[in-house]
Amino acid sequence: MVQEIKATSGKKQQHSQELRGKVIAVQANYYQVLLDQEFEVSKKHLLCTRRSRLKKIGQKVMVGDHVIVAEADYIDSRGVIAEVLPRRNELERPPVANAEQILLIFALEQPKLDPHQLSRFLVKAESTNLNICLCFNKADLVSVAEQQKWQNRLEKWGYQPVFTSLVTQQGLEELVEKLQQQISIVAGPSGVGKSSLINQLIPDLQLRIGAVSGKLNRGRHTTRHVELFELPKGGWLADTPGFNQPDLHCQPQDLIQYFPEARAKLKHSGCHFSNCLHRDEPNCAVRGDWERYEHYLRFLDQVIVQKKLQQQKPDQESNVKLKIGRSGEQNYEPRLESKKYRRLSRRFRHQTVQEFDLDEEE
Ligand code: GDP
Ligand code: ZN
Repeated sequence: MVQEIKATSGKKQQHSQELRGKVIAVQANYYQVLLDQEFEVSKKHLLCTRRSRLKKIGQKVMVGDHVIVAEADYIDSRGVIAEVLPRRNELERPPVANAEQILLIFALEQPKLDPHQLSRFLVKAESTNLNICLCFNKADLVSVAEQQKWQNRLEKWGYQPVFTSLVTQQGLEELVEKLQQQISIVAGPSGVGKSSLINQLIPDLQLRIGAVSGKLNRGRHTTRHVELFELPKGGWLADTPGFNQPDLHCQPQDLIQYFPEARAKLKHSGCHFSNCLHRDEPNCAVRGDWERYEHYLRFLDQVIVQKKLQQQKPDQESNVKLKIGRSGEQNYEPRLESKKYRRLSRRFRHQTVQEFDLDEEE
């Protein structure tokens, strides 16, 4: 694209042409856009608002979106998003567009790897249709034989985990390779080393955040805030809440598709019934002696219960919530308040105004 700067009134320098870029952070109505082409090295990030036309047609802007920026102002590093280019995909939670894979991180020890919990995260990750990159961290805490045991086990589940350690640096290069040229969404239980790993992979992260995010950075740990971090060798990590307590919402007959080892069985031998749940149907080709079959049955029960709850309340949000504990036990909890009626607290509204003490351009 030919780029051209023209001097406008006063000291402002405005771009006369449209620029393309990627949305790397979103909070409230502000979008941090990284321009595809560096124009002035130090000003390739622009803090943007969204054209009111986009708002009117209900076009949301997500992290990961490719956008066209108009009215780029290099003095103030500001701009306006004029158009969102077509998405390859979008994830609802966390809200990220154009992601290619889920980077699922578990520890082998501290906390001890729990196969049922791992399976649950894997199924949730499979349900997004994104690729899965499975990372077993804290490899320094277990023997090589133990790592081998997990590797063999996971191969039967249909996965090839990368074993990493921040203590011995094992596997970090392999991981970096797998993260190149794409957006990966970081997920996994707490305490497994997600933050440590991200800081190791992006050493100047703190620096970078301080340098470019400015106002956006203050709200980094709120759930409404989503941000992509660029890896030095290419690729992006989305470290966001929203995937850390995976709930399973799907059609019972689809659940089997989220188990790669069962998908293979279905492909080879098929199943007698098109709507088979692979429980006690006679002549079912999937039912049987695979390790995670027991996980499948447990998740199936939960998915069926979820579906029934939804059917009971077709027009409203269900006011009970199925909560699933670490070892799979099910409890029903009342929701505190329906989302529809939940209002922002005054303190929160006030904070938001303070955080974004910029005038909206719309
Ligand atoms: P998060 O909750 O997943 O973000 O986990 P943190 O990054 O906060 O790490 C939790 C703890 O695990 C910290 O005390 C880290 O120092 C430790 N840790 C992280 N990676 C490793 C590793 O590879 N080996 C060992 N032994 N400890 C690690
Ligand atoms: Zn079947």
